[in-house]
Amino acid sequence: MSEVLSRREVLQGLVWLIGAAGTLKAAPDPQGIGVTPMMVPLSPSDPAAVAVGYHEDAKTVDSKEFPTYQPGQTCTNCVQAHGEDGHWLYCNLFRGKLVAADGWCKVWARKA
Ligand code: SF4
Repeated sequence: MSEVLSRREVLQGLVWLIGAAGTLKAAPDPQGIGVTPMMVPLSPSDPAAVAVGYHEDAKTVDSKEFPTYQPGQTCTNCVQAHGEDGHWLYCNLFRGKLVAADGWCKVWARKA
């Protein structure tokens, strides 16, 4: 089966594509790396996360196991975090992954 597209159909398709492309938003790029791959949440079981005692919820941190932890410390107020406030943040330690805004790890340092 062969079908020939009319000039009108081709132009209508191009107009639709241009309109659709205009609605796309660029992914945030706060680290300035130019290309922003699909970011995925950091798993607490990731070996790099385990190495620094990362928890997705700071309220679950055992202060006996992590004596530097103080209530109120979260990724949101850590100097290593950046990006938009929300549930997930970028962290300088874990490029390509997102950390939980309510998370914590033993590298935490107060944001100025
Ligand atoms: Fe969260 Fe800071 Fe640890 Fe990154 S370095 S995981 S922002 S506490």
